[in-house]
Amino acid sequence: MNDSVALRRDALKPRALPRRLLAWWDAFRRELPWRAAAGETPDPYRVWLSEVLLQQTGAATAAPYFERFVKRWPRVEALAAASLDEVIAAFAGLGYYARARNLHACAREVARRGGEFPRDEAGLRALPGVGAYTAAAVAAIAFGARTAPVDGNVARVIARLYALEAPLAAARREIGDKAAALTPAGRPGDFAQALMDLGATVCRPRGPDCSACPLRPACAAAARGEAEAYPRRARAKAKPTRAGAAFFARRADGAFLARRRPPGGLLGATLELPGGAWEAAERADLGLAGAPFPARWRRLPGAVEQAFTHFALRLTVYAAEVGAAPPPSGGEIWVAPEDAAAAGFSSVMLKAIAQAGRFLASEAGAARRG
Ligand code: SF4
Repeated sequence: MNDSVALRRDALKPRALPRRLLAWWDAFRRELPWRAAAGETPDPYRVWLSEVLLQQTGAATAAPYFERFVKRWPRVEALAAASLDEVIAAFAGLGYYARARNLHACAREVARRGGEFPRDEAGLRALPGVGAYTAAAVAAIAFGARTAPVDGNVARVIARLYALEAPLAAARREIGDKAAALTPAGRPGDFAQALMDLGATVCRPRGPDCSACPLRPACAAAARGEAEAYPRRARAKAKPTRAGAAFFARRADGAFLARRRPPGGLLGATLELPGGAWEAAERADLGLAGAPFPARWRRLPGAVEQAFTHFALRLTVYAAEVGAAPPPSGGEIWVAPEDAAAAGFSSVMLKAIAQAGRFLASEAGAARRG
């Protein structure tokens, strides 16, 4: 029997794959700020916080947020004692603000229980905003439960390993079952992180490095020479477009008018520029109907665009210098320009604010020259 046949046969034994993957991970694991060092006991607060920050966000983007969070709120009780506005402001730029509200509510609930996270998936799932994935990840990584959290990286690895023909959304249950069947009784948390790291660094979406992969001898997609063709892609549905108008009113001292969105729903509790509702593009009123007060409003050329999960937004921006502006009505506030970045605006509003500021500056420059 030649060596490669022996290796393939050995690799295909059920318990050989976890062993190979864990050996690879011991040598090549990523150093991430939320990870316990080898041999160290993981801190459930850090594990939970990192998993919330990583939802819909890559590790490189989440890392500086994580560092700031744990510096400012090193324990769950400290986070629970913060105000919701502070937590939302600390999320600025990360998007998906429902996470900030849930994070805060969850911290309060855990603090109420004496600062101890539940140790099993069912207990974790009962916490505010903790879904199946986060519960499994915290249970496995922080408490060593034999469970299989499946994030995007893990799903891709499993879909390739077994050359699953169904696209990811349709194969979710099968992927979960296969990941669970592979998970060993010993070191389940390390195994989960090893699968995540393999997906992030070797079994990448594009250009997977199969020659460096410990699962290569057992991998069906690689055996077919079609690693990158998996996971199979679902046909993309076109997203509807919504449109709206936002009004940037700037006082002589540079402060501009803002208001807070309602706490529930899209971008809940973030700050925004005043404006009308975001409607289906063909129904939206992009005129001055949503202006907070009469002023010499100028419409900026073009629009600010942002893709949300279920629709694409085109935001028309108006700007006006309002030296003697009427006082804010109905909960609006004036925000100093130097506070804008950390005040809790969403990304789309920060783009609109930046564009409006540049527009007014260029108009002022043109007026001086003229
Ligand atoms: Fe992914 Fe290639 Fe490894 Fe298969 S062999 S799991 S396709 S990197």
